Amino acid sequence: MVDLTKLREMAKEVISREDVRELIGYRPGTYGFRVRPAFVTGPDDADDLVFTPACVNNLASYIVLEEKLPVKRGEEPDLRKVAVMVKGCDSRALLQQMEEKAYPRERILVLGIPCTGVVDMAKVQARFPDVLEVGEIALEGEKLVLSAGGTKEEVPKEELLADKCTRCRYPTPLVYDELLDAEVERFADDDYADVAEMEKRSAADKWAYWEEKFNRCIRCYSCRNVCPMCYCEDCVLLRLQPQWMRRSVDLSENTAYHISRAYHLAGRCIQCGECQRVCPVDIPLMELNRKFSKDVLELYDYEPGTDVENPPLLSTFKVEDREDFIM
Ligand code: SF4
Ligand code: SF4
Ligand code: SF4
Repeated sequence: MVDLTKLREMAKEVISREDVRELIGYRPGTYGFRVRPAFVTGPDDADDLVFTPACVNNLASYIVLEEKLPVKRGEEPDLRKVAVMVKGCDSRALLQQMEEKAYPRERILVLGIPCTGVVDMAKVQARFPDVLEVGEIALEGEKLVLSAGGTKEEVPKEELLADKCTRCRYPTPLVYDELLDAEVERFADDDYADVAEMEKRSAADKWAYWEEKFNRCIRCYSCRNVCPMCYCEDCVLLRLQPQWMRRSVDLSENTAYHISRAYHLAGRCIQCGECQRVCPVDIPLMELNRKFSKDVLELYDYEPGTDVENPPLLSTFKVEDREDFIM
């Protein structure tokens, strides 16, 4: 577990540097067990920072948003660094963004958090509904200790753990400037058994399954907005001329949206699970993302966000690449 005193001291040191304009981390939420992103601009704010198993958000998404902030007329862009706290899985988003040249490496300062897992807030909510006080979740050995309003309850870690953490292969960040704790050894593996199960189903069965899911989508675009890899300045979904996709919420347009997005993320999705986490109607988007990740791994031996020297998958080719798909 990250030592809070050390975390806050390091944050104060970082935010006091002349070449750092902001530090993005976590602070407690206003009620219940949730935490929220914290945007620290001065040493005093650093005393609110936390890191606990409730720190589910992938803060790498804010880095690409920062890059897009408009510059006021007559002012120069602020080119000082943005510091960001990342877990192992989140660090893959930074690496992939840098592979894609979204921003230069020197624009960010990475505070890496070796991670032993975060909770699935939906599971916490189901087990502890209506907690109005500010609660806390701590990991003690293999148990999660949840305290709120003077009560304390222990739950076996695996009962509340997020699915992605049960197959985590990169608990220690793959890129960092400062590491906030000792490295955590890989404690799980990913055999894509869930995807293999889906692949066994007939085409008609799969279509019926996804038809029901896509029909429920309200096109709120939360999945797109939270995604650290959805950062195009000119998003095809918002284009009116030409209008690639209509705004109507119906099965046909919803399906077009999900298929376009899944293809746009092929070889880019780093499986942080944020899109599925924020979906208000519980569409299992990770099932789509993981199918694409498995295919990309099997076909091209490529895993996004693991090697900054590796060029992005779909922007490169070799002369001996298969071409039998070209008519
Ligand atoms: S996937 Fe790994 S790095 Fe990410 S939250 Fe889970 S345990 Fe931590
Ligand atoms: S978050 Fe859910 S409801 Fe909103 S657009 Fe994405 S899939 Fe649809
Ligand atoms: S598509 Fe979902 S899992 Fe993949 S990078 Fe975006 S938010 Fe994360």
